[in-house]
Amino acid sequence: MTGPSSPNSIGAILGRVTTIDVPCRDCGSPVSRPAQLSGRPDSWRDAVRCPAHAAAAGVDAASARAASVRDRDSQTWIDTVRAFDAVAGYELASVDEIDSTKTSTICRRLIDTHTAADPNTGHRGGVALIGPTGIGKTRALFAVVNALAPGRRALVGSEDTVLAVDVPPWELAAAITARITGVEVLGIDDVGVSLRRPDERMLAWKALADVVARAPHPVTVVLTTNLQGWTALTDWVGAQAASRLSGWTPLASPGWTDRRTGRTHEQWRQDLLAAQRPEERNR
Ligand SMILES: [Zn+2]
Repeated sequence: MTGPSSPNSIGAILGRVTTIDVPCRDCGSPVSRPAQLSGRPDSWRDAVRCPAHAAAAGVDAASARAASVRDRDSQTWIDTVRAFDAVAGYELASVDEIDSTKTSTICRRLIDTHTAADPNTGHRGGVALIGPTGIGKTRALFAVVNALAPGRRALVGSEDTVLAVDVPPWELAAAITARITGVEVLGIDDVGVSLRRPDERMLAWKALADVVARAPHPVTVVLTTNLQGWTALTDWVGAQAASRLSGWTPLASPGWTDRRTGRTHEQWRQDLLAAQRPEERNR
């Protein structure tokens, strides 16, 4: 894969994510976290733990970015997200903060249609939040998930967490089916970074898409990715998963300005438009 849709060329444009050291709540040793966005609540700092104390507290270090709840009240969801130690205040993320009016409208409509859907129908909704690092994709993901999670079965995690990186290839499809079955709100952060081999990764994505397609209840899927559009996403997740996911998750960007540096990613935006299929441009 070459040209503007290559993850390498995107990495070259974006550079690195800014990180800061935050003390572990249990021992005070420094833990690296994404930098605080200015003007955001910083209560998340109280929940940060080093890997050893995360393990001792029952937060699996390999799935530190995963949160799963079945509980029915929003305080439990907030507590779960706060315990999720890679999180920078995401428990308070709201659709009102999304810079792009078009994207906030898409997200609001997702929440409303899922909320209004008959629980016994196969309603499918979603959004793929695209754009460079730092523009608020993960925060926009949590804005949707936070609105829907209380009272619903929600699973949020990094690509490798959700795709069961912790199981051997021969157990992969069964593990993903077990993990995704029953999930009503699915958030997958940073699609395009899985360490699995390409054939296993595509098998995993196909298993995930099959479970979502079969679910007898409404499902909302929210993805974030640096990959530029469905051409690059298809190369990553495989044609079978992409044909299903693209029907549920239109592309949207939360904005083009890096919230930490104020830099506008004009080059990325131009590359994205160049890489998009004509039918993606008006989504
Ligand atoms: Zn510690």
